[in-house]
Amino acid sequence: MNRDPPLHVKRQLRKEVNYGCPVPGCGKPFLEWHHFDPPWHVRNHHDLSGVIALCTEHHPQADAGVFSVEQLRDFKRNPNNRELVCGKFEWMPENCIIRLGGNYAPDRCRVSVGGEDVIRVEKSESEMNDVSFTLRDEAGVEFAKMAENVFTCDTSTVHDLAISSSANRIKIWHERRKVGFECHYSRKSIEDVEKLIQLDCEALKQPPKPIENIPAFYEQLFEIDNYKKDGLAIGWRRRDPVGTYLRWHVIKHRGKDGQIPLLDFSYCRLFGGDGKSIQLGRRRIRTSNRELGCSVNTVMAFNLGNSFSF
Ligand SMILES: [Zn+2]
Repeated sequence: MNRDPPLHVKRQLRKEVNYGCPVPGCGKPFLEWHHFDPPWHVRNHHDLSGVIALCTEHHPQADAGVFSVEQLRDFKRNPNNRELVCGKFEWMPENCIIRLGGNYAPDRCRVSVGGEDVIRVEKSESEMNDVSFTLRDEAGVEFAKMAENVFTCDTSTVHDLAISSSANRIKIWHERRKVGFECHYSRKSIEDVEKLIQLDCEALKQPPKPIENIPAFYEQLFEIDNYKKDGLAIGWRRRDPVGTYLRWHVIKHRGKDGQIPLLDFSYCRLFGGDGKSIQLGRRRIRTSNRELGCSVNTVMAFNLGNSFSF
């Protein structure tokens, strides 16, 4: 049996504690799963009544026996009672590749709906990238946001809020499932980024040919310092059908460790304050304009731009 509980059990466990650590005064959203009744070494199980969600600070304390079984049961009955779950995410790359659905932007981006930014990544005074976003329900009421890497969420209207204990992934669904948000920050190898690009390629009418030797291809791009000027020489066009321009940005973002910081907004279904909605994901951006009663599907994979307005 895997020590990590099945998805539906984890969802129950985080909901039970109101998406924050239930140790009095804590409330941190970076949760892990503590098996206490019976402990894992006595019997491998995922019984809801014998497992509790605790934060990364209090889980080791529980393992060390700081809390009694009775206290842990009491925590389960008296969850984190803060209305706002709050956590700071230390995602501060100097530069990064941002993936929005199937679209890519280097270092900075703004996605705005009805004149209001719903996603924004920009350089702070310390030259690091700050991440901000705002989640509203259909009526325009804000229920979660990230402001300069500090995340807050009103859990009273949330269907599910899953934040990884390693603080690199956030997934939220609003109660009526009309608003969803999934974002992941990681450092990836060239090969892993290329796999993503290949997946996004499938949405293109003229997908680029797969690259035979990925490291060699990227090393070749790395040599081209003045790519924009010389772009035409290797086939760059405004609507780059071979994805070369994107791949050039990818290699230019490789750090000393060979990894590429990737901020991946893999799925977002968001409302602006005016009831207009957008959907990023499945390799596309979809906008809907209620007034006109129509929706527009736009496959914009590889559109390297920093700003998307709807
Ligand atoms: Zn805690």
